[in-house]
Amino acid sequence: MSKVVVLTGAGGVLCSTLAKALAKEGHKIAVLDLRKEAADEVANDINNAGGTAIGVAANVLEKESLELAKTEVNNKLGPCDILVNGAGGNHPLGTTSNPHLLAKDLEDTTEGFKTFFDLDPSGIQFVFNLNFIGTLLPTQIFAKDMVGRKGCSILNISSMNAFTPLTKIPAYSGAKAAVSNFTQWLAVHFSKVGIRVNALAPGFFLTDQNRSLLTESDGSLTPRGNQIIDQTPMGKFGEPEDLVGTTLWLCGEGSAFVTGVVVPIDGGFSAYSGV
Ligand code: NAD
Repeated sequence: MSKVVVLTGAGGVLCSTLAKALAKEGHKIAVLDLRKEAADEVANDINNAGGTAIGVAANVLEKESLELAKTEVNNKLGPCDILVNGAGGNHPLGTTSNPHLLAKDLEDTTEGFKTFFDLDPSGIQFVFNLNFIGTLLPTQIFAKDMVGRKGCSILNISSMNAFTPLTKIPAYSGAKAAVSNFTQWLAVHFSKVGIRVNALAPGFFLTDQNRSLLTESDGSLTPRGNQIIDQTPMGKFGEPEDLVGTTLWLCGEGSAFVTGVVVPIDGGFSAYSGV
């Protein structure tokens, strides 16, 4: 059955792939993004391939912007059946330079060098807001359409670092842990009104956000990139298409009795102790 699917951050790498896959299933797609041109480009691709999509400008951190987006979605496509909360990411201001603190780091005056003690609260706040508030607000706006209707669900995007924090990125790890926790909370809260809530926890996918952390300019792996591959039993990064099967399952009737789960899609990263 054709549903109305709203995806935030769908001008980006991972959620544009999910938007296109959901469109191929016959669903009507609202591609929401802060970058309207990126949203329009994805919507055009879907329409040109025979699907139905609209690109909509929306800031997941502003209720008013989301209300406007919802009005546009309702007028052009109808009430929202499925919400994919995809907008998210890290910020350099919430990131330490080194994985471990060494006593000598406190004397290091290299420009841009950052220990835990130098982290800027505004950077931490930005990352928490984008990932957690940026999941909560669109849910407040779009889930109202779903109350009491059948076959509605929400899919959040968590991360590996929600299970075990990754070095250097305390803000992003904490924010995604909050997204996983919120997924469970919301699943229980919405359980009586027919809305299922689940999440994907992607492992490592080479995207614009992390390319410079994981690869050198010649395409070879950085030490961190190598560490990740060594810790991933399947020995590779994920491809955006690797998220599609689980997304279709969690957004479809095949998972009708599944709510509150966070599914790792990580080539075994989270299962491996490293030994
Ligand atoms: P991306 O940067 O390609 O996409 C993110 C999109 O969100 C961008 O199009 C951006 O314009 C949009 N966006 C940013 N701020 C916004 C705002 N305030 N309002 C609306 N849209 C906004 O990133 P991606 O790699 O496709 O990541 C998608 C999701 O997957 C994110 O939540 C990310 O944290 C998560 N994730 C990514 C990886 C990975 O390896 N790439 C791993 C785990 C989780």
